[in-house]
Amino acid sequence: MPGSLRIAIVGGGIGGLTAALALRARGLDVTVFEQAEVLREIGAGVSIHPNAARLLKRIGLDDQLRKIGSPISGITLRTSQGNAITTPAGPATPAFGDQGYNVHRADFLNLLFAALPKGTVALGHRCIQLREDGDRVHLSFANGASADADVVIGADGIRSVVQRGIGLHSRPTSEGIMAYRGLIPAGRLAWADDLKDPALWLGSGRSFLLYPVAGGRLINMVAFVPTDTESEESWSAPGDLKALALEYAGWDKPVQDTISSLDETFRWGIYDRAPLPYWSTSRITLMGDAAHPMVPHVGQGAGQSIEDAITLAVLLEGCTAVDVAGRLKLYEALRLARTSRVQALARAAGKLYRSEHENPSEKAERLREWMAQAAHSCRHSRSPAPRHRSSGRHSRPRWRRSRDGDTVRHVSIFEDAVRRQWISRTKICESACKSSSASRR
Ligand SMILES: Cc1cc2nc3c(=O)[nH]c(=O)nc-3n(C[C@H](O)[C@H](O)[C@H](O)COP(=O)(O)OP(=O)(O)OC[C@H]3O[C@@H](n4cnc5c(N)ncnc54)[C@H](O)[C@@H]3O)c2cc1C
Repeated sequence: MPGSLRIAIVGGGIGGLTAALALRARGLDVTVFEQAEVLREIGAGVSIHPNAARLLKRIGLDDQLRKIGSPISGITLRTSQGNAITTPAGPATPAFGDQGYNVHRADFLNLLFAALPKGTVALGHRCIQLREDGDRVHLSFANGASADADVVIGADGIRSVVQRGIGLHSRPTSEGIMAYRGLIPAGRLAWADDLKDPALWLGSGRSFLLYPVAGGRLINMVAFVPTDTESEESWSAPGDLKALALEYAGWDKPVQDTISSLDETFRWGIYDRAPLPYWSTSRITLMGDAAHPMVPHVGQGAGQSIEDAITLAVLLEGCTAVDVAGRLKLYEALRLARTSRVQALARAAGKLYRSEHENPSEKAERLREWMAQAAHSCRHSRSPAPRHRSSGRHSRPRWRRSRDGDTVRHVSIFEDAVRRQWISRTKICESACKSSSASRR
């Protein structure tokens, strides 16, 4: 694509590959540098909620997503003993817009990779250094290769090299919990066919999540337990099945059945990092976990990186070398506030799930309040959340009635909103520039 900006993306995970697809769809010249020698994913499920599924549709991936995904139509909540916790439909439900899916990460990454033309992703390229030099960025890789780009997007995950390259040194913050993860062939569990939506058991200090992936052939388990040790920020450290079983002794039978059906489990340290003070320099920016790692309790890690990807593509379309710095700042302004709110919500959700000494109706009431607040916070509006009336005949959460506060609907117009905000901010900047030069004259 002669004449267009050369864009380098460091990291070929969900965020980086989606950004490459979205940028290419707008005619931009992109190369992804991924450290892995081969695409070999560690088995795990990941949620693509409607806000992200809708954006993937815009880059033509809806059919493929439908093929690999298990549709989510809600969530079943229970206490540790299996008593139902009845809540209103949450923001993941299709009632408010497009369908969300749970997918196997490997299937999803393969889908994104296959949709890119050969040669777009340079495997075996671990970025070790980057240097911004006037109007270009120079990248060096551990294999001895180097590359120049007009724009660099750091999509290199929670331990981002690009983040350090722009002068940031954020520290991981543990939530005081860790998770055991595992995948179970559905055939091993008598009730697996009935498990269509995610099922979440909430107990004192612990929660236990199951959902189908790979078209229902596998059940994904994530079991959150307290920890006072520094579990590594790893997705793949081996875990001890006996220790896991002890953590959930006395819990509902499906929980115990699941644990005894596992062949192996992995430990996952649960961390996020405080919102960063900035994401961009003149030529380099961050996205996904490199910019805003979040704890997994609202299943938005992938979704927020997909939103980042589309925002970047919208803003970089038609951008000339002179405009890059302004566009990257605008991207940061549009995304940093929203992702910081989602990070905070995810933390709050985790606390709520694991809160102690609550009966099902108390838990349900708290969840209702939280959902109303969550729906409000997911909007771009900076106004404070409405106070939710928590009891009596008028306690129905407002967001259900007005339908204007949920993530889903908000994102249905996401791309258009980005364009509008970009245009209006550009106009504000232009008129500010004009009036300051007029006053100098
Ligand atoms: C194995 C795994 C399992 C996950 N499971 C869940 C889950 O169950 N639930 C959930 O909510 N979230 C999960 N996540 C997180 C979720 O996938 C991310 O929040 C989301 O996808 C954002 O992705 P990202 O592209 O920013 O980062 P990632 O998906 O972490 O991708 C980063 C990519 O950058 C590459 N990379 C890193 N450093 C360099 C470098 N120096 N040079 C070149 N390449 C580099 C990595 O190899 C990786 O491919 C998981 C992430 C991983 C990696």
